Amino acid sequence: MTEFAMIIGGEHVRAASEFEVTNPSTGELVGKAPNASAADLDRAVAAAAKAYEGWSRQSDADRAKACSDIAQKIGEHAEELAQLLTQEQGKPLNGLGSRFELGGAQAWAAHTASLSLPVKTLQDNEQGRVELHRKSMGVVGSITPWNWPVMIAVWHILPAVRTGNTVVIKPSPFTPLSTIRLVELMNEVLPAGVVNVVTSDDRLSSIGSVMSAHPDIRKIVFTGSINTGKKVMASAADTVKRLTLELGGNDAGIVLPDVDPAAIAEGLFWGAFINNGQTCAAMKRLYVHESVYDDVCSALTDYARNIPVGDGQDETSILGPIANQMQFDKVKRLVDAGKQRGRVLLGGEPGKGLFFPPTLIADLGADDPLVFEEQFGPALPIIKYSDLEDAIAQANDSPNGLGGSVWSKDIAKAKAIASRLECGSVWINKHGAIQPNAPFGGVKSSGCGVEFGEEGLAEYTDIQVVFN
Ligand code: NAD
Repeated sequence: MTEFAMIIGGEHVRAASEFEVTNPSTGELVGKAPNASAADLDRAVAAAAKAYEGWSRQSDADRAKACSDIAQKIGEHAEELAQLLTQEQGKPLNGLGSRFELGGAQAWAAHTASLSLPVKTLQDNEQGRVELHRKSMGVVGSITPWNWPVMIAVWHILPAVRTGNTVVIKPSPFTPLSTIRLVELMNEVLPAGVVNVVTSDDRLSSIGSVMSAHPDIRKIVFTGSINTGKKVMASAADTVKRLTLELGGNDAGIVLPDVDPAAIAEGLFWGAFINNGQTCAAMKRLYVHESVYDDVCSALTDYARNIPVGDGQDETSILGPIANQMQFDKVKRLVDAGKQRGRVLLGGEPGKGLFFPPTLIADLGADDPLVFEEQFGPALPIIKYSDLEDAIAQANDSPNGLGGSVWSKDIAKAKAIASRLECGSVWINKHGAIQPNAPFGGVKSSGCGVEFGEEGLAEYTDIQVVFN
């Protein structure tokens, strides 16, 4: 067990108190993280503001090189980071687990290094020249969740520093350790103060809320629940902060009558159960046409029953435990409610500790909590439909609008239906696939702004138009 320190201005900083981080697979202590005070946060923001003076004036090429060096560092330390991530988050090393997450983090860092936002000439004629410049903002505050902590930290930090900003990141109290180590590695590449990390246990104080109100933070990039996102929005109002909010989802998948159930079972399963369902853009409601309903239910159950669930550090595990007690309790409550009205096809009963087997519950409807609430766990409700218009209406009848999917052999028809879904990303015959060159974000209550690609990079800049 190691004691971890915050990194502020390039230095390791301890706090007056610490909190414990435990392994969801075993309950064992993984490490202790510092409990930052508001004064610690002020110190981190001041260090970032000081570093901004130099970093914002570095050449674009130097910043691109630093981002590419970070990508390389992540690659060199991928196994060490994956082991730490598995211990504090629970996700297995294998499958779509920690090693997969580290591969993603490296790929996103490398791609962000390659992006740029050149000056755009809007007009150049006898009336004059008009140029659109993209300028860095200052100190960016990053607040991250516990589900994909390393990858999301990279999604927040890399575009910020690539465009000349400096960062204070606050990871989730459930998974602070891999972020501390990641920032430590970034500090081997970057000048002191460009990226700082503070940690705190939300049960004692909410450093996150102090960040979103902080007068010297210009922008907050937040990934987390809708409820907390609303609080961030409210406390950011006083200082008119720029915001990127990536919030919760309750993604629907719609299966059309022409599918081959056996052929889509694997895609449906991983669309819903990636990271044990603890993924913002996982499929959380499945609508299946009555003509293939029974066959899809059987094919999905047959696929799901063979997935090995176990301790994340066991090389044979493909899914691990639920990541924390709070989330476990939520999943159990929603599954218990689903069991009262639905038909359990698989799972449904918790295992030891925080383990919960992949659970499929059929015959549910719009007024079941497992359907209308975001479960964010290994349980999928299956809803039978007879009228496609009704399925589309039910899919859209949600305050969320992160992702959606349509499953069919007829791609043109599937795309026409996809265009009617109210969500920021939509997939045909798959669900949840994201990539660094494609902007990602939610509509409605799932957030504002996008990440990834040039559009995501631009969110870390202010526009300045130069007329001459
Ligand atoms: P959460 O909202 O509980 O916590 C997210 C972060 O906010 C944590 O770091 C937490 O400490 C911090 N926080 C808590 N109170 C705060 C406050 N008052 N002000 C500012 N920050 C505060 O979310 P979670 O449980 O960690 O993550 C799960 C949620 O995140 C799910 O709803 C999921 O859908 C969503 N999510 C969305 C995306 C996306 O890209 N849209 C990605 C991953 C997760």
